[in-house]
Amino acid sequence: MVRAVKTKRGWPLTPMVDLQTKLRAKGLRSTSPRIAALRVLILAKTPMSHAELFDAVRDQGFDRATVYRNLVDMADAGILSRTDHGDHVWRFELRSEAEAEGGETMHPHFICTDCGEVACLPGVAVKVTTTAFAPRAVSAKNFELQLKGRCDQCE
Ligand SMILES: [Zn+2]
Ligand SMILES: [Zn+2]
Repeated sequence: MVRAVKTKRGWPLTPMVDLQTKLRAKGLRSTSPRIAALRVLILAKTPMSHAELFDAVRDQGFDRATVYRNLVDMADAGILSRTDHGDHVWRFELRSEAEAEGGETMHPHFICTDCGEVACLPGVAVKVTTTAFAPRAVSAKNFELQLKGRCDQCE
């Protein structure tokens, strides 16, 4: 039976059964460290660092390096996105179906300049118009959108 999972972000995300299909479709084997990390990321409402993800799955007996290697593999395969929000820490999150298909640019993130809190903004659209002067990465949509300001707590 396939049951839809609603996340805190309100995105209709992938049910458990589809996680295995998702991995295989991207040429990755469905292994327990990968499924464990995906399960955590489905429920996460912000991008998570390797340290945070490791804490969430360590009781299942995976070591730090295994968790890290699998996160990188899944990011390389396009299942996860990996972003650096200016503090030189990679954070991982599940890409939505539309983003993973390449039909939609990655959603922007809001970063608090006081406490460093990172929030996903899945409902925010930013239109970027390319000119001849823009770096190639812009036309290739190979960039991240970051909005900075003070979060509600720090305001
Ligand atoms: Zn803040
Ligand atoms: Zn996000």
